[in-house]
Amino acid sequence: MTRTSTLPALILRTYPVGEIHLGVRLLTAEHGVVQALAHGARSPRGKLRGVVGPFHSGLCYLYSDPVKNSHKITDFDVRSFRTGIREDLDRYCTAALWIESVIAGHAGGSGAAELFPLLESCLDILAEIEPRKVPRLEALFLWRFLDILGAQPEPGRCSLCETVISDSVEASYSSASGGFVCSRCGGVRPPLLSAGARAYLSRSDSLSVEEAIEIGLAAASLSELRSLLLHITSEVVEVPLRSVAVALGLRGGTEKP
Ligand SMILES: [Zn+2]
Repeated sequence: MTRTSTLPALILRTYPVGEIHLGVRLLTAEHGVVQALAHGARSPRGKLRGVVGPFHSGLCYLYSDPVKNSHKITDFDVRSFRTGIREDLDRYCTAALWIESVIAGHAGGSGAAELFPLLESCLDILAEIEPRKVPRLEALFLWRFLDILGAQPEPGRCSLCETVISDSVEASYSSASGGFVCSRCGGVRPPLLSAGARAYLSRSDSLSVEEAIEIGLAAASLSELRSLLLHITSEVVEVPLRSVAVALGLRGGTEKP
């Protein structure tokens, strides 16, 4: 028994299959990450050529065989190509990091309904963003992604004794308890997050991503924040993210002036 469906989808990754086809990882709000075949997408005359590519999103026409659990893309009506991401190495590395995290985290089920619009809007912003705001956007996506995975630490409360951590001191993050730890519970070891970065996280939660990237953060705090979020994300998705080393090495972990 086969069926056809039409649904909004975002192309995360493509890879060659045979001479002329492309394997595709799609993100959909309904089914999370889906693997599909784009028939003839590398053929010079294939109608999916140039249409099926990373970061593109639009309306996807799928032909599925539920018994074999296989999906074939029969058409893709692109809403956004986001060419701005490919034109800048910094933007590209950020998008690659998010996508690697999403595939590794395999956010399906109820999480996908939240993740799909988040990744869509962050990629839209990334394609047009000023270079100096890229690290902030990178951090904001990861922070919200951790929330969707149910792994976002509470920035203002000790994860062991549950007391409020003063918003004027830095706090240590503990992988064992999956949260910040106050100084009385032994929270003086790295990784540490500055008071400013914790306040930034708390404040960003009540704002849209567009609003939150307008708030400045000291370069050292932002660097700490990005390193910590990459660390937590790698732990949560249980995969050392290959893009992490690239992303940190490229920018030296600091915000551009
Ligand atoms: Zn404590």
